[in-house]
Amino acid sequence: MSITDRADEGGFAFTIAYIGIGANLGDARANVADAIARLQKVPGCTLMATSRLYRTAPIDAGGDDYINAVARVATTLPAHDLLQALHGIEQAHGRERPYRNAPRTLDLDLLLYGDAVIDSNDLTVPHPRITERAFVLVPLVELAPAIHIPGRGAAQACLPAVADQGITPL
Ligand code: ADP
Ligand code: MG
Repeated sequence: MSITDRADEGGFAFTIAYIGIGANLGDARANVADAIARLQKVPGCTLMATSRLYRTAPIDAGGDDYINAVARVATTLPAHDLLQALHGIEQAHGRERPYRNAPRTLDLDLLLYGDAVIDSNDLTVPHPRITERAFVLVPLVELAPAIHIPGRGAAQACLPAVADQGITPL
């Protein structure tokens, strides 16, 4: 890398974002693994870490158990562009939305985007159900034990409220 490259790169601001990954159709475990591989290739995103994979029972829905994980990325993409990239990965897995909470080959949710609070038509950050769902909160706290959720406080402190939801690391 030349000094000029470094100077150019020095001008980029990046944001740490957390992405929730879930699947309960087809080979769910393979779908989650492939989503992580695809996240690694999104231009403007660097995959920093992933949680373990977890098995969870569906909430407010039928179908098979879910496989869930959370990924941490450093990204130069604006939040809406990152969401588009996540939708693109879902589409690559043939994601369909026949009805609310339908079983899914792959679901990618933007959980946190730095400390941003976003409330637009197609994007709400922090994701509105972070603190209600063990399948998000448990892998998130595994990756980032001290993390704060804007407007809600310490993620760790929300764990007791979801302690009744079954979640098992694979
Ligand atoms: P869910 O994940 O809530 O079960 P979907 O994956 O079908 O449902 O997402 C429905 C819509 O939610 C998407 O079209 C997307 O625009 C919107 N949405 C709003 N905020 C977010 C977010 N933080 N992450 C992902 N999708 C979001
Ligand atoms: Mg989703």
